[in-house]
Amino acid sequence: MNQYILAIDQGTTGTKVLLMDTKLNLVAEKSTPFEQHFPQPGWVEHDLDQIWASVETGIAAIVARVDPKQIAAIGITNQRETVCFWERSTNVALARAIVWQDRRTADRCKELRNAGLEEKIQKTTGLLLDPYFSSTKIEWMLKNSPKVANAMKTATLAVGTIDSFLLARLSGGITHATEPSNASRTMLLNLEATDWSEENLKLFGVTRGSMPKVQPSFSKFGVTKGMKKLPDGIPITGIVGDQQSALLGQACIHEGQAKCTYGTGAFLLMNTGSTIRQSKHRLLTTIAWTEFNGKTTYALEGSAFMAGATIQWLRDGLRIIKDAPEVEALAQSVPSTDGVFLVPAFTGLGAPYWDPNARAILCGMTRGTTKAHIARAALEGIAFQNVDILQAMEKDVGREISSLNVDGGACKNNLLMQIQSDLLGRKLKRPAFTETTSLGAVFAAGLGAGIWTSLSEIEKAWELEREFAPETGLEDRSHRLVAWQKAVKRAQ
Ligand code: ADP
Repeated sequence: MNQYILAIDQGTTGTKVLLMDTKLNLVAEKSTPFEQHFPQPGWVEHDLDQIWASVETGIAAIVARVDPKQIAAIGITNQRETVCFWERSTNVALARAIVWQDRRTADRCKELRNAGLEEKIQKTTGLLLDPYFSSTKIEWMLKNSPKVANAMKTATLAVGTIDSFLLARLSGGITHATEPSNASRTMLLNLEATDWSEENLKLFGVTRGSMPKVQPSFSKFGVTKGMKKLPDGIPITGIVGDQQSALLGQACIHEGQAKCTYGTGAFLLMNTGSTIRQSKHRLLTTIAWTEFNGKTTYALEGSAFMAGATIQWLRDGLRIIKDAPEVEALAQSVPSTDGVFLVPAFTGLGAPYWDPNARAILCGMTRGTTKAHIARAALEGIAFQNVDILQAMEKDVGREISSLNVDGGACKNNLLMQIQSDLLGRKLKRPAFTETTSLGAVFAAGLGAGIWTSLSEIEKAWELEREFAPETGLEDRSHRLVAWQKAVKRAQ
């Protein structure tokens, strides 16, 4: 009895619910997309009832396969920074969630930067002033929704990231909590105290009472109550934001270990142990997770907006491939790009540049350039962006990493992985189970429920599928990086 862990992986475009046994065999899995709302250019919203419906659909599909009484624990991993507003007593949504991609508070961020607040905010929260994070979104909602503002005045408002909202719904409104990996993305958390910063709550006009309680990532958050397809009393014992969850799912549990997720964008995280590393190279400092005993692990993070999405552009924009996997053979058909560079700054440049006004460029073409060279330049462009981020990380921590763990949809591309290894001059390790974000939620729930008693047990479960080692030398790498930097300057 009680032998399964149910993980809810609540992403930006869909929700995946999966069930694993405690030996980490995947028993069942169901993905459900939901609607994206774009009310104005640059705005992105989610309807909380639609998100919840996608969670319920996933759970219904899973419990059709097993007896739900055998579920020992539930774990959650989720899109981060997205903020939700609901009425505490009824669990009714008071507004649509403002999604992490939403840029409506760009001017407000500029205003705060001009007021000289960025350094102070970075010191307290580890974050840079950007609309990406939750605080200015909450402030915007309080200013623009009388319903939400009024609920705050009458102390009936619950604010939270997606994990908090799901917890509230799973527990029948009993639990209003979060944990540090999500909370550290709100710009309201004091990194050192792992609790809300009074100063920042005041700056953004948020009452502490409307915010969730911050508790360890692997701990008992509450139990299910009043769910359609689950019995009451199943404990929710682990929560980790999606990128940190991938770090955990990759078993990067030691200081200096790092992972890169190649999805729509690329997300690099490095475990920095119990040290808060303030980045001097425009990376973010964040919390990876907090264990039950209160021990907090920190991370450095950098992301590029376009990774796999660059391949989608080759498919839908240029139409030189019919589907994403085709890019590999096309790019492989030429031995090099012949001097062609693609800087995929279609939506600006992320870390370490943070240049929202940069735009993509394709340069270095001659009459001999073919679609194969462009395909190869696209793969290199994805890889070069990650080199910039990883080099910034290595400078911040003062040492080189020995290898990088890889996951996400585009990590299946062997050529991309080889190019990445060549350009980084580092080994890459691809695991057997590449759904590491969901796996992290399973690990978190198992740790919180006491199924696993230490992080080292997780490490034993991680399995290598393939390693990629650099095949080119330092000279070639340095030469290509200089040329890439020139191309980046042209995109800015
Ligand atoms: P997300 O979770 O961000 O939606 P996924 O991890 O599912 O992303 O990965 C999908 C992305 O990976 C898409 O942008 C797609 O273009 C890209 N992708 C998938 N397969 C390949 C491939 N073989 N080579 C390069 N890119 C790929």
